[in-house]
Amino acid sequence: MVLRRPGPAGSGPLEPAELPDPRPGRGELLLEVGACAVCRTDLQLAEGDLAARRLPIVPGHQAVGRVAALGAGVHGWREGDRAGAYWLAGACGVCDRCRSGRENLCEDAVFTGWDRDGGFAERMVVRADFAAALPEGPGDVALAPLLCGGIIGHRALAASGIAPGGRLGLYGFGASALCALQLARHMGCEVYVCTRSERERARARALGAVWAGGSEERPPVPLDAAVTFAPVGEVVVAALAALDRGGTVAVNAIHLDRIPEFPYELLWWERAIRSVANVTRADAAEFLALAAEIPVTTQTEPHPLEDANAALGRLSRGEVEGAAVLVPAPRR
Ligand SMILES: [Zn+2]
Ligand SMILES: [Zn+2]
Repeated sequence: MVLRRPGPAGSGPLEPAELPDPRPGRGELLLEVGACAVCRTDLQLAEGDLAARRLPIVPGHQAVGRVAALGAGVHGWREGDRAGAYWLAGACGVCDRCRSGRENLCEDAVFTGWDRDGGFAERMVVRADFAAALPEGPGDVALAPLLCGGIIGHRALAASGIAPGGRLGLYGFGASALCALQLARHMGCEVYVCTRSERERARARALGAVWAGGSEERPPVPLDAAVTFAPVGEVVVAALAALDRGGTVAVNAIHLDRIPEFPYELLWWERAIRSVANVTRADAAEFLALAAEIPVTTQTEPHPLEDANAALGRLSRGEVEGAAVLVPAPRR
């Protein structure tokens, strides 16, 4: 499913296309895609809110598959291995940031489904040193949403500075927050969820949130940290207003229109707002090990790959429960 020209989700911006099979170059793997989850970033790219870096492009950065072929010079992978592609597709490896464990900030980093063709396809090519080794066990559809929402949720929790047993606020409750809540519960945190949707509030309570309220409501206690997932600037201010002294709001959004003006008093007492940008390979490896141990569960709605536009439409209208996942037809 190819994006040639961004447009409203309702106009069907993705087109089905038959492309030649990608060939793995040096250091690359060819993956046979079993499932690829749909992320809000895919929607923002398809609609043009996130500027395309290359057109046409095959979006999708939460792909679970099997290694179907190895390029030259690949070590540590075999045909048939289970592998995943996630947002970070490559980094330069030599800049100061790459060499200090911050490859997510590399200026030459490239991203799956933004710079490189992604997983809304039957086959894709990934850099072998950036592919995620995936455990056997969970099905492709169940595993796929962990590869963006899960990994970035893990990084966002770390960025928020939440400590075991602390009081954490989650603003917005989509696929990523669903994973973050389970990680935070595993850390023994009290989790407070603010979201517009009553269904999502019920789901949050069922997963162990001690409190769930509307996006304008203030949690009943001051929070040690908060993570915002909703792509709305007002939510950042609401989260800041709910923080205890010294707390941090981690903003988990690649695109946000603006943050409204707010009184300095909300930031005073060493409160902080910080963004969370991309992920590192270490984030992916840590999270995937933790997710298998806990285990983190996902809620998914599978769609045939060719129905990608319908899945984007449902996401844009807030109708998706958990994560939409695209599944290519089995190979004949
Ligand atoms: Zn994503
Ligand atoms: Zn670099």
